[in-house]
Amino acid sequence: MMTPEDLAFDRHHIWHPYTSMTSPLPCYPVVGADGNELRLDDGRRLVDGMSSWWAAIHGYNHPAINQAIADQLHAMSHVMFGGITHPQAVALCRRLVAITPAPLECVFLADSGSVAVEVAIKMALQYWQARGEDRRRLLTVRQGYHGDTCGAMSVCDPQTSMHRLFQGYLPEHEFVAAPACRFDEQWREEDIAELAGRLASEGPLPAAVILEPIVQGAGGMRFYHPTYLHRVRELCDRHHLLLIADEIATGFGRTGKLFACEHAGISPDIMCLGKALTGGYLTLSATLTTRDVADTISNGEAGCFMHGPTFMGNPLACAAANASLELLAQGHWPAQVAAIEQRLRAGLLRLREHPRVADVRVLGAIGVVETRNAVNMEALQRFFVEQGVWIRPFGRLIYLMPPYSIQPEQLALLIAALAASLDRPGHFVA
Ligand SMILES: *Cc1c(COP(=O)(O)O)cnc(C)c1O
Repeated sequence: MMTPEDLAFDRHHIWHPYTSMTSPLPCYPVVGADGNELRLDDGRRLVDGMSSWWAAIHGYNHPAINQAIADQLHAMSHVMFGGITHPQAVALCRRLVAITPAPLECVFLADSGSVAVEVAIKMALQYWQARGEDRRRLLTVRQGYHGDTCGAMSVCDPQTSMHRLFQGYLPEHEFVAAPACRFDEQWREEDIAELAGRLASEGPLPAAVILEPIVQGAGGMRFYHPTYLHRVRELCDRHHLLLIADEIATGFGRTGKLFACEHAGISPDIMCLGKALTGGYLTLSATLTTRDVADTISNGEAGCFMHGPTFMGNPLACAAANASLELLAQGHWPAQVAAIEQRLRAGLLRLREHPRVADVRVLGAIGVVETRNAVNMEALQRFFVEQGVWIRPFGRLIYLMPPYSIQPEQLALLIAALAASLDRPGHFVA
């Protein structure tokens, strides 16, 4: 049980993601998590609609992942990766090379998604430096999200993210309009015109194009047309640009394919993975590259890639990732994700008629209800907890991305709570 003093201490001393220290929104005390439920300290159980931000794809307290971590704990919880290797890292990288699109074959392990993006950007810059070309800019689309560290922030959407706040400090990159053609619409060739036009123009060539394949996550939960991604790959080939695919949110089955790049049948030169990599147990990320990228960097002036985190290749995190990938390899996830998609469609698409709803979209195990007005986060969050569900909206987005292991009646509860939440005016900012 958490005491009132504990909660007061939390309010006064502990930062939470994107919150104020002077007027923080309430935090709910969670003391346990099992299967697809979180347990509050007063004993109430909440069905999890968030997978702890895309990560807990197999649910919580999974016996196989628990066992893998416990076994590794007794062997070795951490050892430096400089000059040392270990079985969990080798097993994990072998798996990642095997399951990612073919030409990706060299793996850099790091601590978090943002760091994987920093690594990808530094790799792209070192690549062109090694080739004796002055290319320091990245090209990306608006409404993207790539993380909160400085390099990652610099390629996030310039309007909704933090560019103005950190102006003069962040590197400046190039932006084109976000893809407009939706995942399930008829493809419109004009969607790629701005990007194609930019690359055909005179200006200096960028080092790389970076984007989230198919699903733009925290930048707006938008699903765009696979042909867009396909065209981007063609343009990168034609103009000799590296393509960085940030699969940190989409990787490991969430969109219905193991990796979202598969919707377009393309492979990037650099791919970032994170979030669900360890099944939501521990923080770990991976940046994969082609042999060409790895060799070129290694043959450059520095003679190596200039990055090496203290906790690189952490054995506990690698053990969790190996166990999670083993669960995925058992092959149940495609049917689970397809069943979730079908239920989300059946339950959410009809909400398009609701007067407070601007749009509804579903892809794989992601269901998004975009409202006309911004949500009152505190009121809505309280309502969801009262309904026995954990759903964390932001801005004008109320969305579900449950663990793949979610049961039909649990998903029904999530959908019913989301639908009911729309009927109360106090849940929205006027
Ligand atoms: C969450 C996310 C990141 C950042 O990952 P962290 O582990 O939070 O640093 C980067 N890119 C995408 C697409 C993400 O969804």
